[in-house]
Amino acid sequence: MGTMLSPLPWKLLDDVSIWTQNWSWIPKPPKGAVSFKYTNCTLCGSGCAAQVRCIEAEPVSLAGIRSDIGLGFLCPLGLVAHHLRYHPDRVTQPLVRAKGDELKPSSLDDATRVVSGKLQRLAQQTQPSDSYLAILGNRPGTAGSDALLALLARFPHAAYVGCPNDGDGVSVLGSMVEGDQDWALDIANSKMVLSFGAPLLEGWGTSGRMLAQFASSDRKTRLIHVEPNCSLTARAADVWLSIQPGSEAALALGLANVLIEAKLVDPSATCPDLEVDSPYRKLVAEFSAERVAGLTGLKPEVITQTARAIAQEGPALVISRGYVSGPVSRAEELAIQGLNFLLGNLDRPGGALARPSPSQSQVAGPTPASQPGPGVVRALAAIPDGSVELLIVDASSGNDLPPWAAVQPKLSPDQAVVVVLAGLPTAWAQRADVVVPSPVFGEAIEELPGNVDDTANSLRLSARLVDPRPGLFNLLDFVNHTAVAAGLATSPVSYEDAAKQKVAAIHQAGIGNVVSPADGQAKAVTDYSSSDELWTALAGGARWENAAPEAIKPATRRFSLAGPDSGDVERMRKAAAQRGGLADVAPSEYPLTVVSAEGWAYDSKVSPLLAKITWESGLHAERTCMINPATAAKQGVLAGTTVTVQTPSGSLDVPVTLSEEIMPGVLLLEDPTGEDQSGLMTGTDATCRVMPGRLEVA
Ligand code: SF4
Repeated sequence: MGTMLSPLPWKLLDDVSIWTQNWSWIPKPPKGAVSFKYTNCTLCGSGCAAQVRCIEAEPVSLAGIRSDIGLGFLCPLGLVAHHLRYHPDRVTQPLVRAKGDELKPSSLDDATRVVSGKLQRLAQQTQPSDSYLAILGNRPGTAGSDALLALLARFPHAAYVGCPNDGDGVSVLGSMVEGDQDWALDIANSKMVLSFGAPLLEGWGTSGRMLAQFASSDRKTRLIHVEPNCSLTARAADVWLSIQPGSEAALALGLANVLIEAKLVDPSATCPDLEVDSPYRKLVAEFSAERVAGLTGLKPEVITQTARAIAQEGPALVISRGYVSGPVSRAEELAIQGLNFLLGNLDRPGGALARPSPSQSQVAGPTPASQPGPGVVRALAAIPDGSVELLIVDASSGNDLPPWAAVQPKLSPDQAVVVVLAGLPTAWAQRADVVVPSPVFGEAIEELPGNVDDTANSLRLSARLVDPRPGLFNLLDFVNHTAVAAGLATSPVSYEDAAKQKVAAIHQAGIGNVVSPADGQAKAVTDYSSSDELWTALAGGARWENAAPEAIKPATRRFSLAGPDSGDVERMRKAAAQRGGLADVAPSEYPLTVVSAEGWAYDSKVSPLLAKITWESGLHAERTCMINPATAAKQGVLAGTTVTVQTPSGSLDVPVTLSEEIMPGVLLLEDPTGEDQSGLMTGTDATCRVMPGRLEVA
């Protein structure tokens, strides 16, 4: 906020001088009755609860709500979310690109014709080698995604791929446990957290809850944070372990080695992976503290002390998500999540808890039995290269989309059509053949998936605060619209109806409570006389939750430390030994380690007001590469010098910034758009988190 607001007095003086000479241009704030509405912000996965002050029907300001979820927090972006409707670059009509040409304003009929023609062709294929329909933006467990999955089952080859999110780690943990159970992390009650790069203070899980728990001086939860560079979270941690980028899996296996060999954990009898000759024990035995010290850059005694601390002063809940260097791969996640099992964190308050039954998806309304068709895959890696003929991307909400460099190889070289749903001209929209305008904050009902730290089952909606302009589509409604035009569906369920049917199912089941956003009071679902009444409450910002704790059954679940697939032990071994593939290239050729930072999409998401302040005052973030002064001196570059950064997959000219917060030998690429347009960070596992690199003066 300081950086954003410091030029404010000068800008105000400047603007007052201009506006006082142009009175007719002055915007007239509406006058009328003041009222308050409630909603949940969807600009990122945190889903903060918000109170909206309206003059007549017009939202004029937003504020956080002090509740057990929101804690009164809205970030600068959320505080001005209601400005997005007025963004000067708003996408207001379909755009279509003729072959090799620029995107041009077009009609809905033209956009529909392009997409429905492809859908028709893809639905009629019969050969195993045929092309794919791929959709990016799956939000598992939401009614909209369930309804779309049911539609996709009609295609012989379809992919519905989720976006990287904070819950990926707990999904991997769930895949290691027998049974089909939805898991969450009870961080609020944990005594100690061991974080593998999770950006707790920059934005992870429920932001307000994380700030309250980890940013206060009298916090009760100890934090050990693992991250190469000195981020905000690293600064706030009780212990910061600065490791070499890409060595998280090695550290996790090294900690497991100490825990097992020093008998610091009580292995469960339900886990055969801890027998001496098991593949997991053999894997862990390879990663002694001394070997892991060489891979991570930590001292062996630090690894031993950390293992003792998480076992004896905790137990510590282990969480992950690389921030500075992107999300960790599945193999790395398996190694990290194994620690939660060793520490006995399953079914323990302050550990990993099974969400109460029935889950949201078990009471889903529109397609309760919907299962993906035999051809529907959920992972980008499962789509054959060059096979996607129609790619539909939901760039409309706070989705963290996979990097373009990882998606592009999946496209058919000469037949692919890329369709992007966007409210604002993001970098994804620039790559599209068809852009479809979508609603922005406050214009449509949207369902929020539960956060990784929500141990209750919950259902929250982002409210429709204003009447949307006509011609806007969300993902499901646009696919429905084109499927009808292609003759593949007659009256598919709309997004809003899907959500309503889910609410009706909750009402019929009569489970859980509804928490009012205005006063935090809970009312039993059984006290609502109809599902319409329940819908009105939820669409007005209330939260349904089913928090009834399950009877915890100590050590009765079966789990696999070796991972659910037969090749997982080998994958973990490779990920730990090679530090994200760095071992594949000669250090003499690429002496540096390149990582990239997630960026705020200032160019697209930010409100017109903040854009004016940040862009006109030159305070907006620029693409830059940050290195330690010692590394710069060794490489012979000065601050501000433009250098060419090279990795095995690309090169980029970018100015240098010096920072003591960056580990020596590491080069941090910062891009305010959060995009890797140069393909510089395209690794083999599509996580794009760490690459070998070098730099030369451009
Ligand atoms: S943290 Fe995310 S959900 Fe919360 S106000 Fe900011 S953008 Fe919205």
